[in-house]
Amino acid sequence: MWRLGLALIVLALLVYPRNPRTQQRADTSRTSVSTTNVRLAAQQVEPSRERARSATLAPAIASPIQGVKAYQLHDSFNEIHHGHRHEAIDIMEPAGTPVRAVVDGTIQKLFLSKAGGNTIYEFDGPGTYCYYYAHLDHYVDGLHQGMRVFRGEVIGYVGSTGDASPAAPHLHFAIYVLGPERRWWKGTAIDPYPVLERSLTLGSRSSSVPIYLILEMLHAAG
Ligand SMILES: [Zn+2]
Repeated sequence: MWRLGLALIVLALLVYPRNPRTQQRADTSRTSVSTTNVRLAAQQVEPSRERARSATLAPAIASPIQGVKAYQLHDSFNEIHHGHRHEAIDIMEPAGTPVRAVVDGTIQKLFLSKAGGNTIYEFDGPGTYCYYYAHLDHYVDGLHQGMRVFRGEVIGYVGSTGDASPAAPHLHFAIYVLGPERRWWKGTAIDPYPVLERSLTLGSRSSSVPIYLILEMLHAAG
C-alpha cells in the first residue's frame, strides 16, 4: 500500500503544473550560468587540451574578408611553409580587398616584418586572444597602436608584402591564445580554420541568431 502512495506522490510531482514564471526565471539563470561557463572556458589558457577546446569554444569572430564563403577556405594550419608549420590560414583575395577586424578589440601592434610584411596584432577585450593579419598592402588611414576597433571595421587592405608572392596576394590570418603576460609576439597558435568555418556557417544560417543561443550551441557542442 505504501508503495502505491509513494507512486502517487511521484506522479503528482511529475504532473503538477509548475509556476511558469518560476520556470522562466530558472531558464534564464541556466542560460547565464552556461554563458559564464563558456566565458570561463574561453579564458582558461593553461593546459594544451584546454587550448584545443578553446579553439572550438571561444572566438565567435566575424570574417576578416567580407563575403568569403566557408567552402572557399582551405585548412593549411599544419602545412609546412618556408620551412615552418604555417599555423595560420591564407585567404586568397585580390590586392586592395578590405581587411576587417574580426572582433571588438585594440590594435596592440603594427609591425613591419620580413616574413609578414605589414602586419596587425589585434587583442580582444579581455586580452585572451590575439588576431594577426599579415601581408597587408597598407593599413587603413589613421590606424595606430592602442586604437580601439570594432568588429567589421576596415583596418587594412590585402596585399603581398613580406614573403608573399606578388602573383598571389592574400591575407595570412592567425589566432593566438595569449599567455598571462599578454605579449603580442608570444602566444600559442590555434587553428583559425574551424573557428572561421563555424562563424561563417552560423552567420549564413541567420545573421540575427542571439548571442546567447550561439553560446548555448557551442556549450552543448563542447
Ligand atoms: Zn600564410
